[in-house]
Amino acid sequence: MRLILLGAPGAGKGTQAKNIVSKYDIAHISTGDILRDEVKNNTDLGIKANEYMKEGKLVPDELIIKMISNIIVKDSSKNGFLMDGFPRTLVQAEKFDEMLAGHGLSINKVVNISVDNVRLLKRLTSRRVCSSCNNTCSINGSEDSIMQCPSCGGELYRRKDDREEVIRHRLEVYQQQTRPLIEYYREKGLLIEVDGSGSEAEVTERILSTL
Ligand code: AMP
Repeated sequence: MRLILLGAPGAGKGTQAKNIVSKYDIAHISTGDILRDEVKNNTDLGIKANEYMKEGKLVPDELIIKMISNIIVKDSSKNGFLMDGFPRTLVQAEKFDEMLAGHGLSINKVVNISVDNVRLLKRLTSRRVCSSCNNTCSINGSEDSIMQCPSCGGELYRRKDDREEVIRHRLEVYQQQTRPLIEYYREKGLLIEVDGSGSEAEVTERILSTL
């Protein structure tokens, strides 16, 4: 099974992706996670990508496409994959179709998780990431309410791009560059729309019931 998960920043793609891949035993490919690793390891790609990421801008298409073309041929993607955070522009979507066709492959379904802007902003400003297990959680209001990861006790940190001014820019970028992908995949007859409000389990249930 080859899936794409679409949705604005904060729509819950990362969380839902984990639940979906464990059900179908497919690879979880999060371009955001891969790029953050590259930044952490100070690689050439990481150094270039960080210039865009810290400002909430998209990393240039050619860098992302090259990165993806190396990943989809890996053994771990043999059983299928779920793309989380890719494609994010029409150019990326078109190149991805070409790339897959070159391997005799295609996308089976595209799930769009929709959440209103007020909720997105609230989720992103209260989001924290565990420095140990990489899980995300919400501090729900107070800065001091949770200092440690509820899963492993590791130290929580706030992503640099989860600051309010950067979040606003990321949401604008989403509207302008990524939202058009909904129509792109609808026209191909691949789109499934899922309401992203409610609990994690409720949204997972909605998604799984459509796949
Ligand atoms: P995410 O974790 O998906 O919110 O991604 C974090 C940041 O990584 C984004 O704001 C972009 O700067 C960059 N990024 C992730 N995926 C892509 C992509 N497909 N195209 C361009 N930039 C990306």
